[in-house]
Amino acid sequence: MTQLEDDRKRVERRITSACQQAGRERDEVQVLAVSKTRGTAEIRALHALGQRRFGENYVQEFVGKHDALTDLDPPVEWHFIGALQTNKTRPVAERAAWVHGIDRLKIAERLSRQRPEAMAPLQVCLQVDLSGEPGKGGVQPPEAGRLAASVARLPNLALRGLMAIPAPAQGLAEQRRPLARLRELRDALNAQGLELDTLSMGMSDDLEAAILEGSTLVRIGTALFGPRRPKARQ
Ligand SMILES: *Cc1c(COP(=O)(O)O)cnc(C)c1O
Repeated sequence: MTQLEDDRKRVERRITSACQQAGRERDEVQVLAVSKTRGTAEIRALHALGQRRFGENYVQEFVGKHDALTDLDPPVEWHFIGALQTNKTRPVAERAAWVHGIDRLKIAERLSRQRPEAMAPLQVCLQVDLSGEPGKGGVQPPEAGRLAASVARLPNLALRGLMAIPAPAQGLAEQRRPLARLRELRDALNAQGLELDTLSMGMSDDLEAAILEGSTLVRIGTALFGPRRPKARQ
């Protein structure tokens, strides 16, 4: 068995066991393979094992890999999970299936305007800042309702849910606390009439805590591909 197969099996076992513990079905949780810094050969190898969803967080790197992998069948479902600047939205609007980091209306408006008519609506999540220190990226929780209502009205986007990157924490109970707040925020927005079915939360170190708190999509890099090599792009 290759290292990649081995790591994928190990992640799968962790997810299955967390789902059991949470009393959830395994198919309620999707795996996004975070392939930032990994070459296209590694993405092809993981795709050959059945992985379909891949996530990238730098525009240029995303574009390069996306365009080099258009031959894959079935096609990759690409998720953009990084911060977006207004002058970099177009290549993402033209290529991604999902964008997880929406935290300003201006970015969402540009993505909607630039989404090609021939493509399905761009599926988006609002990124929420759970750190309580503004400036880290993400909308502040009290502002999330207003932003969500505005984004939900944009024609070429489909608002699907919330995403967060909590500060690293030790131990299950500590990890669960901010993730529970994201779930509660999603429930509160749905009670106000939105229809958010996605909680994009959980990474290599906290996927169990995230699944226990209702995550529907875990974003896994290191646990699938091994430790990241700095700047080893393509
Ligand atoms: C890198 C990254 C991940 C994956 O992190 P790991 O700890 O390597 O699993 C998840 N989400 C985002 C937004 C990332 O940038």
